[in-house]
Amino acid sequence: MPNVSSNYVAGEWVGSDAAIENRNPSELSDIVGTYSQATADQLEQALGAARSAQAVWAKSGLEARYAALMAIGTELMQRSGELGELLSREEGKPRAEGVGEVYRSGQFFTYFAAEVLRQIGDTADSVRDGIEIDVRREPVGVVAVISPWNFPTATASWKIAPALAFGNAVIWKPANLTPASAWALTEIIARQDLPPGLFNLVMGSGREIGQRLIDSPLIDAISFTGSVDVGRGIAASAVANMTKIQLEMGSKNPLVVMDDADLDLAVQCAAGGAYGGTGQKCTASSRLIVHEKVHDGFVEKLADAAGNLRVGHALAEGTQIGPVASEAQLEANLGYVRIAVEEGAKPILGGDRLRLGTDGYYMAPALFAGTRNDMRVNREEMFAPIACVIKVGSYDEALATANDTDFGLTSGIVTTSLARANHFRRHSKTGCVMVNLATAGTDYHVPFGGRGNSSFGPREQGRYAAEFYTSVKTAYVNSGTPR
Ligand code: NDP
Repeated sequence: MPNVSSNYVAGEWVGSDAAIENRNPSELSDIVGTYSQATADQLEQALGAARSAQAVWAKSGLEARYAALMAIGTELMQRSGELGELLSREEGKPRAEGVGEVYRSGQFFTYFAAEVLRQIGDTADSVRDGIEIDVRREPVGVVAVISPWNFPTATASWKIAPALAFGNAVIWKPANLTPASAWALTEIIARQDLPPGLFNLVMGSGREIGQRLIDSPLIDAISFTGSVDVGRGIAASAVANMTKIQLEMGSKNPLVVMDDADLDLAVQCAAGGAYGGTGQKCTASSRLIVHEKVHDGFVEKLADAAGNLRVGHALAEGTQIGPVASEAQLEANLGYVRIAVEEGAKPILGGDRLRLGTDGYYMAPALFAGTRNDMRVNREEMFAPIACVIKVGSYDEALATANDTDFGLTSGIVTTSLARANHFRRHSKTGCVMVNLATAGTDYHVPFGGRGNSSFGPREQGRYAAEFYTSVKTAYVNSGTPR
């Protein structure tokens, strides 16, 4: 029997009869570990313990919360090399990106440690004489955190850190594809001085343990990042219990390249945005909207750049694009390559499965030209290293095309015109907009989120995170002292 990594429930590490094997997508013979699947009973225990622990934590005082978050963040940063390698081994992103993700996760914890001490409310005079008003934030209660596999540590950290900072308990259901990173973060959190049950890890399939978690009336709030379909299901379940929700879902981010753009910069933004993280980023640039005057030169340069990207084992020196994370994702990606061809897109480069030195889910980054915005490959999120170029004749057409989507997470424009950059910044219908930058790549201290099918509920990250993780209370006090 292999060593099975347990779940963490009510302050104890607990095993179960069911476990899954976690395989390295760069090298399928490499088993990263075996992870226990939480039972329904364990989830019930977690729910009960979280409620009691939250009441203790809410009274624990600011410095206890600050100390715990600082310790978690500091350890993540100090161990980012080791834990980043583990992340890359199970998810497939190049080692530098895995290390960067763990370091960034540490920054989410230290940022929210500081926010613990910055919880300052408002005061107001009443319209009635002798009455004073104060408005303060209180914890929302027990928060379910449901996270995806593509940023297994960072996404979870930007939810868990504010949840704990604002005095809540957490039950975390990570993606079953990346349990090693979840377990490693939990192991750090479990060593802190927290009330037993304040933080719980329940690994298992989304359809089973995840669904039970979101259906529970004992949950006060659900923070979810994942696909639109699952997000819709969560919203429907939450309504039944009047649970507060925050959903971050898919996207179809446009990068506009104008006729006055610095083409080298445009290519750098497009290649990084479309192919970085094997295209498995919710902020990836999958629609490249290019002005006809620079179209041919841009496509040629991007094909060159994409063709030179080194696809390989996530942990090999020099790898720029790791494998696709799973077999199902690879099949879906290759399916979209076929759909693009069937829809009449012009294949410029890549799109094939690659057989490299190790047996993994490798794919050559793909570039298509001659695509229209109404094609499936430009409407549906692919989550793949596939970029589609749409040729346009003017800035107005570029903006209209960029905004013609069901999603609205990020967008970008490459231009040397300040006027156009400003116009785009104001009129792009997305939550985040980039000028002369890739659509992917955001900071940790400012709000993150989108519009349309990309997001639902209050923003994540930065000071805006307080909206979701707290409930506002307005107190009226009749002090008996007239004005
Ligand atoms: P999924 O929606 O399939 O899964 C996300 C999480 O939800 C996983 O933990 C999954 O568990 C769980 N889950 C699945 N079904 C249910 C259910 N019925 N009830 C409760 N939980 C459930 O997304 P992926 O993991 O495939 O992640 C990729 C998606 O995430 C992409 O669409 C991407 O755009 C989006 N994403 C969005 C971001 C944003 O900020 N907007 C950032 C990063 C990713 P399990 O995996 O075990 O089934």
